[in-house]
Amino acid sequence: MTDHILEVRNLKKHFHLGGNTILKAVDDVSFSIKRGETFGLVGESGCGKSTTGRTIIRLYDATDGEVLFNGKNVHKLKGKADKDFRKQMQMVFQDPYASLNPRMSVGDIIAEGLDIHNIGSAKERKERVHDLLQTVGLNPEHATRYPHEFSGGQRQRIGIARALAIEPEFIIADEPISALDVSIQAQVVNLFEKLQEERNLTYLFIAHDLAMVKHISSRIGVMYLGKMVETAGSNELHKNPLHPYSQALLSAIPIPDPEQARKRERIILQGDVPSPIAPPSGCPFRTRCPKAMPECAAAMPPLKEVEKDHFVACHLY
Ligand code: SF4
Repeated sequence: MTDHILEVRNLKKHFHLGGNTILKAVDDVSFSIKRGETFGLVGESGCGKSTTGRTIIRLYDATDGEVLFNGKNVHKLKGKADKDFRKQMQMVFQDPYASLNPRMSVGDIIAEGLDIHNIGSAKERKERVHDLLQTVGLNPEHATRYPHEFSGGQRQRIGIARALAIEPEFIIADEPISALDVSIQAQVVNLFEKLQEERNLTYLFIAHDLAMVKHISSRIGVMYLGKMVETAGSNELHKNPLHPYSQALLSAIPIPDPEQARKRERIILQGDVPSPIAPPSGCPFRTRCPKAMPECAAAMPPLKEVEKDHFVACHLY
């Protein structure tokens, strides 16, 4: 059996905006995630990373392509397999203020999945909620309170407890720390890591900031305008970024060592991200790429493996 828990193959999610206008939010994206690892998906807002996550967990139907979870196409599941999938994959959302129902107690929010899937007696559910609150660093007494009584960091812990309630194998964390104070972000990342170790979870961790995912991810995928432009191991990507866009993103991350920082050149990208409704021909990055060549306008470079487990979509390679 493959050790990949998730395989995304040529995934497309296009939105028809009326008339002939099509937004190609995700356009032919492929990557895979090994069981127990964290795959970081990064890119500027509007690059399609959140839509990719939402299509994987079926908040959206796929326009084309496949998402294989434990070897089965998630968009074709029926009956028991479909029910199992909804237990095995859960999501933690970006905004801990908007994602928790303000009229439900914290205990009911966390137990909702248990109720839906009819897991355990009322007493067992209550115990599970108390255990989960402790697992995420809150108190069992918090179960009777309401979301507005908590800080942003605490609310995100509640969101994580909710995702854990039905013991999933795989969690999609969609910018789970972006809305939090910097001082709280590290605590929540540490919590994700602790839970992964204890429960052998696999994460798809979506963020706009490469610095944020470096620490937690074993591998990283970089998206630009609906395309995957580079995937590599986290250390490899940081030492040896190949795509000019990844190089620019990395050059913007502050280096703590002043000696090294002086040696590194900061690449400032010119211009804005083009509209995803009318992306440039050929390579989508060519309008901002400092290394663009004439052939870059003619054809989109395919994502190819140029070093072991290091894939890049660029005509330079
Ligand atoms: Fe730059 Fe061309 Fe590579 Fe695109 S294909 S990243 S434009 S060099």
